[in-house]
Amino acid sequence: MTATIIDGKAFAARVREQVAEHVKRLKTDHGIKPGLAVVLVGEDPASQVYVRSKGKMTVEVGMNSVEHKLDADTSEADLLSLIDQLNNDPEIHGILVQLPLPKHLDEDLVINSVAPEKDVDGFHISNVGLLGTGQKSMVPCTPLGCLMMLRDHHGSLSGMDAVVIGRSNIVGKPMAQLLLGDSCTVTIAHSRTKDLADVVRRADIVVAAVGRPEMVPGDWIKPGATVIDVGINRIERDGKNKLVGDADFDSCAAVAGAITPVPGGVGPMTIACLLANTVTACCRANGLAEPE
Ligand code: NDP
Repeated sequence: MTATIIDGKAFAARVREQVAEHVKRLKTDHGIKPGLAVVLVGEDPASQVYVRSKGKMTVEVGMNSVEHKLDADTSEADLLSLIDQLNNDPEIHGILVQLPLPKHLDEDLVINSVAPEKDVDGFHISNVGLLGTGQKSMVPCTPLGCLMMLRDHHGSLSGMDAVVIGRSNIVGKPMAQLLLGDSCTVTIAHSRTKDLADVVRRADIVVAAVGRPEMVPGDWIKPGATVIDVGINRIERDGKNKLVGDADFDSCAAVAGAITPVPGGVGPMTIACLLANTVTACCRANGLAEPE
C-alpha cells in the first residue's frame, strides 16, 4: 500500500487565499487593516528564517507586518516594555514573540505578558485554559494546522485512536486537547513512555512532535493509519543538508493510509494558521464576525 500524501503546501496556499479575501473585505467594508507584530530577540538562524517568511506572507495577504529585532542581550524590562507598547497599539492585532528566547529571559513571564486577545500563538496561560475547557480561545498554530489537515482528510475524527508523541506546551499538549475536542481517544507519549512502538501501533492517527530525525519507523504504524509529521530536523546525508521529519517517510508511507511530508506538510500550515489567527484577533477586537 502507498499512502496518500497530504499536501500541506497546497492546503496552506488555500488558507492564505481565504485570509487574503477576508483582509480585503475588512478594508473595503470597515477600513480596517489587520496588523501582526513579530518580536525576535537574538540571532538564532532558524528563528531568523521563520520570522522573515512570516513577515513576507503577512504582507502577501494584505496585512501590516511589523518586525522588532532586538539584540541577544536585551533586558527583560526592555522586552516587556516593548510588548506593553504593542499590547496598547490599536493598529496591532496579533503579537508573536519568536521562541526560543535567550536563556536570561523568563519565557513564561514574557509569553504571559502578551495580551491574551493578541496572543496569536495561543501560548498565554489564559488561552491554554480556554482551550482546555473547550471555550473560545486563540489556538496554537501548529496543532491547529494539523487538525485542519486531519479534518480535511477524514471528515469526522470521532472515536478514532490518536497517539501524540511529544508533550511540549507548544505542540504536543495543545494537539492532544484539539484531538480530544474532536472526540478522539487520545494518548500522549513522551520520552518515558514504555513500549512506544506498541502504543503507536494502536493508533489510527499518529502525530509525531519529537524533534528526532526519522525516529518513527514504518513497522510502528498500523496499516492505513494517518501520520502527521511535525518534526523539522536538519541532517546531513550524502554530503548534503536535508530537512527530515520525525517519521521515517519511506517506510511509513509504505504502510500508512496518509502522511504529511517534510518539508511541505505541517510547516506551511503553521504560518497559514498564524495569519488566520491574526484576522480572527482583528475581527474580535472590532466586534466583527470571525472567519469560519
Ligand atoms: P520539544 O523538544 O519541546 O518536545 C519534544 C517532546 O518529544 C518531549 O515531550 C519529549 O519528551 C519527547 N521525546 C523526546 N525524545 C523522545 C523519545 N525518544 N521517545 C518519545 N518521546 C520523546 O519539541 P517541540 O514540541 O517544540 O517540537 C517537536 C518537533 O516539532 C521539533 O522537530 C520541532 O522543530 C518541530 N516543530 C515544527 C513546527 C512546524 O511548524 N512544523 C512548529 C513547532 C515545532 P519529554 O517531555 O519526556 O522530554
